[in-house]
Order: sequence, then structure tokens, then C-alpha cells
Amino acid sequence: MITTITDVDVTGKRVLTRVDFNVPQDENGRITDDTRIVETVPTLRAITERGGIAVVMSHLGRPKGSRQPKYSLRPIANHLAEVVGGPVHFAEDCIGPVAEAAVAAAQPGSIVVLENLRFYAEEEQNDVMFATALAKLGDVYCNDAFGTAHRAHASTAGVAAFLPVRCAGLLMQKELDYLGRALAEPKRPLVAVLGGSKISGKIDVIRALMDSCDTILVGGGMMFTFLVAQGKNVGASLVEEDRLNMARELLAEAERRGVRLLIPSDTIAADRFAADAATKTVKVTDIESGWMGLDIGPDTTATFADVIHSAGTVVWNGPMGVFEFPAFSHGTRAIADALVAATEQGAITIVGGGDSAAAITQFGLAQRVTHVSTGGGASLEFLEGKVLPGVAALELT
Ligand code: AMP
Repeated sequence: MITTITDVDVTGKRVLTRVDFNVPQDENGRITDDTRIVETVPTLRAITERGGIAVVMSHLGRPKGSRQPKYSLRPIANHLAEVVGGPVHFAEDCIGPVAEAAVAAAQPGSIVVLENLRFYAEEEQNDVMFATALAKLGDVYCNDAFGTAHRAHASTAGVAAFLPVRCAGLLMQKELDYLGRALAEPKRPLVAVLGGSKISGKIDVIRALMDSCDTILVGGGMMFTFLVAQGKNVGASLVEEDRLNMARELLAEAERRGVRLLIPSDTIAADRFAADAATKTVKVTDIESGWMGLDIGPDTTATFADVIHSAGTVVWNGPMGVFEFPAFSHGTRAIADALVAATEQGAITIVGGGDSAAAITQFGLAQRVTHVSTGGGASLEFLEGKVLPGVAALELT
């Protein structure tokens, strides 16, 4: 049973809160998308408005254990101050005397942002000494960073054991509620839509989803490995030769277990991998040699959209094509539209993080589905049924 921050008495307590402030920045360090910062505000308010001190820790970029000014969290702390409309204190270190002094000086109701955790290699090593040094800065541990919950780092896992009270932030709780309920007690039919480049990264998730799904729709680059496994010729499309047996096994397993595993019937083929490539819409059996499929075709799109429209729950992870190129973004866009339509008809629709989240945001439709996960790798591992270390740490008794 995981406690949520709103169930914890934080009055006068220092709440050591792991957030995900790993925001995109341009070459001048300007924040180009502050969604992750804005999304932490409800949790921070749940601490400060009830008389707690929010001691906020995060990583930013990959400084690989060394102190690099361009990865400092100071600009992020300044931005947070604008977002919350009040002062935010900044500690130039995330452990040790500087951090301890900053936290000791903080009054109830205030926010202290610690410097980048990954200025210490010990963070990613889940080093015990580093975790105890972090633990000195809090009375309560709160994790609101779902996106890093699949990593056993000091701030996401190790530190939890050294604090007497552990809880999830509101964002983390929302992720666990939506993803957990979608799989555990889905409104049926439960449909999974899987895309992305490679089958190798999705095998475990396909297999795990067979336990709960009624239908699995496969698009993206990985469809071609399935098509070759079915004996088809796919030209120069992306195929993982070393996964053909795996693809055959998955097809057979789906049949044995009565799960509908739908593989595209047509594709948008291109003469090269480029935004301005020549294109042809063809059946998957008619891809010319030297040509490659870079999106699902209109027949497949229509079939997939029909399945989604009649779903009770939809979980989507991975684009249907090379959506970064407009000419090959239609399949992905159509899936996003179908999710929106299904949502309007009362279905629960969940978009896994990573590229599908980027795609639905790019289409301006993120607000029109039930939930867009903030964690790409974490949501995939959750769907695979794996225990996330950052979640397990909150369940310690
Ligand atoms: P992943 O990181 O495995 O989720 O894959 C996402 C990437 O898959 C995106 O950058 C897409 O451009 C790419 N992708 C989708 N469909 C295809 C395709 N048919 N051929 C090659 N790459 C693809």
C-alpha cells in the first residue's frame, strides 16, 4: 500500500521530494518546455500549504558525476519561483554542509531546490553513503518522479530506507492509478497499440500484455520483423533478423491464447529514409526492392481506428511510423485522433511516455486523452509487469 503526500502530516516537517526537473533547454540554457516543472506544483503545494518544507531534488542532463555549470539546477529553481509566484531557495550542493545549512534556514511553507544530484556519480550508483547524506535533509521522503522510478538510484530508491515516512507525490500517484488500473481492472475490450522502431525493445511488453489485452495492434518499424516472420518480403524496411524467431513465437502465442495480434496490411513506402523521399502506398506484400515502409497505410489505419473506437481501455506506446517526417506522420496522427474519439465515447485512454507522448503533444491532443504518462522507460517497464525500484521503495514497511 502506497501512501500519498496528502495523507501525510507534514506540518513542520522537511519533505525530501524527488521530482523530475530534467527539462529540455536550448543552447543558451533557456527552458523550452516547462511542463515537468509545472506538473510538480500540486505536490509542492500539498507540502508548503500544510506547513511543510519542500526540499526538492532532481537530476538534469548527464553531467556524469562532475560539477558542470551548464547542468546547474539554479535556472530551474528560478523558473519554479516564477511558476509558484513566490520565493524558492537554492542550495549550491545536494548533500553536505551547504545543503544542510540551506535546509536548516528554511521556514515552514518554503521550497528549497538542491543542486543537480548527478553532480555525484554516487547518485546513479545508489551509493549508501550518498543516500544517507541525502536522508539528513528530510524527515519524510516523497517521490514524484515517475520517469526515473525504473532506476534504482540513491534519490529514487536507496534514500527511502533511511527515512521513517515514505510517500508518493500526486503526479506519481496519478501514474500508478492510471497505469495500474488500466491493466488490473480494465474496462474491456482492452486494446494495446504498440509501435516504435524495434521489436527488440518491445518483446517483453508484448508478451506481458497478452496476459491482459484482448487486442494488440502493432505498427512502427517493428511491424516488418513480424511480416518477415510471416514469410513476406518487405524490401529495405527495418527488420531485425535476429528477432525473427521471437516474432514467430509471439504470433503463435497470441493465436494459442486467443489474443488478436493485428499486423498492418498496407504501408507508406519510401525510396529512402528522408523527409522528402518519393512515396507509394502499397500492400505490405508489394514493397519494391530497395523501398522501405515508413508508416502504416490507410487500410491499416482504418482497421486500427475501428478497433480503438470500440475499445473500453486503450494503452498506446510507440509511434506508427517515422512521425518526425510529416509525410510519414499520418498513421501516428490517426491513432492519436482515434484515442481522442474513444475518450469522448467514454473509453480510458493512456499514452505511454517517450515518443508517443511527444507525438500526441505535437498534435495538440494531449489534453484530450485520459492520461499521458510522464515516463517513457518507466511506463514500458510498468506495462511489462516489472517492479519499479522507485515504487518498491515507497512500499517498504
Ligand atoms: P522507439 O524509440 O523504439 O519507441 O522508436 C521510436 C522511433 O521509431 C521514432 O523515432 C520513429 O521515427 C521510429 N520509427 C517508427 N516507424 C518506423 C519505421 N517504419 N521505420 C523506421 N523507424 C521507424
